[in-house]
Amino acid sequence: MIIYGTRATITAGQVLAQICPECEQPSLRGFQVFRYAHLYHVPTAPFGSRPGIECGSCFLTRVGSEIPEQLAAAAGAAIRELRRPRWHWAGSLLFALLIGWFSLESAREAEANLAHLANPVVGDLYVLDLRGETENVDPEMPFIVALVEAVVGDHVTVRMGRWLYDTAWDAQKAVIRDHPDEPDYWGSQHSSFERGQLQSLEAENKLHVARRAK
Ligand SMILES: [Zn+2]
Repeated sequence: MIIYGTRATITAGQVLAQICPECEQPSLRGFQVFRYAHLYHVPTAPFGSRPGIECGSCFLTRVGSEIPEQLAAAAGAAIRELRRPRWHWAGSLLFALLIGWFSLESAREAEANLAHLANPVVGDLYVLDLRGETENVDPEMPFIVALVEAVVGDHVTVRMGRWLYDTAWDAQKAVIRDHPDEPDYWGSQHSSFERGQLQSLEAENKLHVARRAK
C-alpha cells in the first residue's frame, strides 16, 4: 500500500506561435507539470511545477530544462495563465497535522524503546540486524527475531528465531502476526549481550524492541 509519495498532474496551456524544432509544424502547445506530495492518495503539499512543450504533429515532448533555449520564453508565456489545480492544497492541513503526529509518536516510541532496553524483561522480543554482529550472515536476509530468555545482572541472554528476514519490517510483521508464539519458531542458538550493548545497538539502528513481554 502506498502511504505517501509524489504524483504529478499535467495541465495544458496555449498553443505557441513558434514552429516545432523537429517537424517544423506550428503545432507546439505548452503544458505545465505540477508535482505534489500525497498521503494515502490525498494530495497534500505542492512542491514545484515545470513547464513543458508538446508537438501535436510529431509528438516531440520536452520538459523543464529539456526545452530548447529559443523556445523557453514562449513555453513560459503559454502557461502563464494556468492556475494550480484547486485540490492542490486540499490536504495541506491534514498533511501538517499528520507530520506533527508522526514525529510526536516516533519521538515517544524512541524514548520508550530506550527505556525498555535499559530494563530488559524475560519475554521481550527484539528484531536484530545481524550484519557485522555474526559471521556468515546472508546479506540478503540479515534480520532475525530474538527472545529474551534470561536477565542476570547486566547479562541478557536471547534465543534466536529460526527464521531470517530481508528487512526489519518483515521481521516486525512476523511478530505482529504472532509467529514467535508458535513453538517451532525458535531454534537452539543463543546469544548474550550486556545491557549497555543493547542500547548502543539500538542507537546504531541494529536492534529494536519488536514486542514487550506480555
Ligand atoms: Zn513536431
